[in-house]
Amino acid sequence: MSQYDSNNIFAKILRGEIPCDKVYEDDHVLAFNDIDPKAPVHILVIPKGQYMAIDDFGAHASAEEVKALYAAVAKITKDKGLSGDGFRVIANTGTHGGQEVPHFHLHILAGKKLGPMLANVA
Ligand code: 5GP
Repeated sequence: MSQYDSNNIFAKILRGEIPCDKVYEDDHVLAFNDIDPKAPVHILVIPKGQYMAIDDFGAHASAEEVKALYAAVAKITKDKGLSGDGFRVIANTGTHGGQEVPHFHLHILAGKKLGPMLANVA
């Protein structure tokens, strides 16, 4: 199993070495707008702990960290008024999943009809 790379871009954001457009923060979670939005609303929600991907997080995070991540998604989507029209949450994972940044993150996408869940996977 590979090791967490503490030089990844989200680790640098967490350390304050690179700025972000912050949406939400608590003891366990940071959320900020994606620098290259793929929808009118595109927010990244990340745990502050060093987890590489969703499977690493699910296997090793504490119950408090897991709860905090889901609670943050609920709070952000409620505060942004997204619950009515809906939204999509994506966790790209590994090479086939198209994950570019090796620090676990959820994408919250919203603001218009997002179309089919997947394209060009045949
Ligand atoms: P992934 O492909 O790993 O699931 O998604 C990584 C996301 O991080 C992409 O949507 C990309 O636009 C975003 N991203 C990459 N670098 C930065 C950055 O420096 N700041 C912010 N806010 N987002 C970034």
